[in-house]
Amino acid sequence: MSLPVSFSVDGDGVGWIVFDEPGARANVVKPAVQAALGAALDALEKLPVRAVVIASAKERVFLAGADLHWMVALASPADASACSRTGQRLFQRIADFKVPVVAAIHGACAGGGYELALACAWRVASDAAATVVGLPETGLGAIPGWGGCARLPRLIGARAAVDHIVKAALVPAGEALRAGLVDEVVPAAEWIGRAQAAALRLAETGRPMRPEPAGADAAFFAEAKAAALRKTRGREPAAPKAIEVIEQGQGRSVAEALEIEATAFGEIMTSEVFRNLTRVFFLKEGVKHLTVDAWFPPSGGSSGLGVSGSGLVRCIGVVGAGVMGSGIAQWCAARGHEVIMRDVKPEFVERGLTVIRGVFDEAVERQRMTAADAAAGLARVRGTTRWEGFAACDLVIEAVVENVAAKQALFKELAGVVRADCVLASNTSALPIEEIMAGVPGPERTIGIHFFNPVSRMPLVELVLSPHTARTTAERTLAFVKGLGKSPVICRSSPGFLVTRVLFFYLNEACRLWEQGVPVETLDAAMREWGWPMGPLRLIDEVGVDVTDFIFGEMAHYFPARFTATTMCGRMLAAGLKGRKNGASSGFYTYAGKTETVNPAVDPLGPARGTATMTSAEIAERLMGVMTGEARRCLDEGVLKSADEVDLAMLLGTGFPAFRGGLLKK
Ligand code: NAD
Repeated sequence: MSLPVSFSVDGDGVGWIVFDEPGARANVVKPAVQAALGAALDALEKLPVRAVVIASAKERVFLAGADLHWMVALASPADASACSRTGQRLFQRIADFKVPVVAAIHGACAGGGYELALACAWRVASDAAATVVGLPETGLGAIPGWGGCARLPRLIGARAAVDHIVKAALVPAGEALRAGLVDEVVPAAEWIGRAQAAALRLAETGRPMRPEPAGADAAFFAEAKAAALRKTRGREPAAPKAIEVIEQGQGRSVAEALEIEATAFGEIMTSEVFRNLTRVFFLKEGVKHLTVDAWFPPSGGSSGLGVSGSGLVRCIGVVGAGVMGSGIAQWCAARGHEVIMRDVKPEFVERGLTVIRGVFDEAVERQRMTAADAAAGLARVRGTTRWEGFAACDLVIEAVVENVAAKQALFKELAGVVRADCVLASNTSALPIEEIMAGVPGPERTIGIHFFNPVSRMPLVELVLSPHTARTTAERTLAFVKGLGKSPVICRSSPGFLVTRVLFFYLNEACRLWEQGVPVETLDAAMREWGWPMGPLRLIDEVGVDVTDFIFGEMAHYFPARFTATTMCGRMLAAGLKGRKNGASSGFYTYAGKTETVNPAVDPLGPARGTATMTSAEIAERLMGVMTGEARRCLDEGVLKSADEVDLAMLLGTGFPAFRGGLLKK
């Protein structure tokens, strides 16, 4: 059986330690890997090597960090500290090895992988796009525990180390070189030879002498800690703890700094927040494995009527060039699809194209895309007011106004234009798909693809199956959505699906509390304190008072027994207050730069301010109770198949606070 770590000695006397987890695409650190690395070091210790190179045989991964399943299973602070010390000792062997050790980084070198590299005498990184380097632990609620907190400040200085560990981002090779995270960047085609050359150089010269970088003063650490606490409103202890570890380790020996790190690691890795953030990480990863099997009997289930199961979705039609249509068209084109976008008037098409151009420009500005890729993406979108080009489409997404009759009329017309095997999809946020598609020939090719606004930023997509949707349609659409890089959950067609339904039950309850006399700012502050990025009434300002009032009406229509629509938003609309899109003083708040104050025009529309007194905890309990209750009902009704999908949808679609681990988390 092949081992995850092998060793050899080449003709020039350089020892090679190579990570290559059998049958896996990535290398991660786990006990068996640590044992194999220890055995390789034992063996090379006894051989006459001049230097050692540590490398990976994987295409895109050097060493991706610790196995998170192992980390979340650490039962007590003592266990976690012991795990830290074991890893530290192993990497210390590399630092103390009889000859210099070079890390040859080609592919992702993250967390524990980079901590190994930090213990090496020299770090060579390839310039491959897949080569990214760093310590992302605090992003997952963890801290580096195998020497990262102790060694990084000794390499690049305390300030830069704090900055890097708090940012929790992996950086490309060039940036890593500028930051001092690696010593050398070499062309990807030559990385093996160049790593060997570095090893031979060090065999001659010995380990490089590095000047001791500057430390930082107490004021710097205090400010950095305060900023890290502010960023998560004190909810996530990892980044402040890492800063503390760096501060306490400053001026001490590496061994002492490592011990401080191990103690802190024990505390952080057994915290609820770490477990919750890891759960969220697993939920996001799980999307890659999502299939339609839970919804269709594994054998067959497809009517096969005119729908080709294997047909790749290439050419996309988008109907409606408004907020959502233009966003969807842009995203599809950016991901390589040919897109034809239709609206009813040339000026609407033009407006949509201008928005699309703007999103591409912004992507270039933010360095998410090269100018050439953006130009090619833009060239893939064509605008029209007619139906020409739609016969070539593999999938058409409708994004016209949220009105059943308008959508029904549109799909009838559309069905006469497209091929019989073209998937017909609606981006409706709440309407049952079978209602919209009533009378459309070939209903097995109909489906809902609910993107969220803004499409370029929101990763969630609800894939909505009507009772008629064929398995092949669901499969093709799921593959298409995954190909777009979005995170799908699968829902049964039912009013509001999951996110709209659950969110608007919650918003309606918030309005009810306001109508009962709880002040706007008290309500919103309570929910921010609970962890939401913004309070519910502030959110209504973003969504639009008009849209909210409309959806309250829809919910009352579809759930008459349980949803009593509040009238607050209707009163605001009558007073001309539509939400933030209509101006700085057009919602629950008035906006002046970054300052938000409760709009004085709102209070007179309700009961005397402050007639109800509720504590933050009572408000949160009430509102979260409504949200959780409705989500459970969705699950009981089979709107979604699993609590994990409910949680993922709320995390990605509503900003549910990740540190809590999920709405239905047990
Ligand atoms: P919008 O008003 O910005 O755009 C709708 C566009 O459709 C308009 O440009 C209109 O001219 C065009 N249109 C109307 N009838 C048409 C027809 N027969 N053929 C071609 N174009 C036609 O609306 P929007 O916000 O983009 O919403 C579109 C859909 O997406 C709605 O179903 C909405 O519920 C859903 N949705 C909206 C959001 C959001 O936040 N805006 C989020 C998710 C889903």
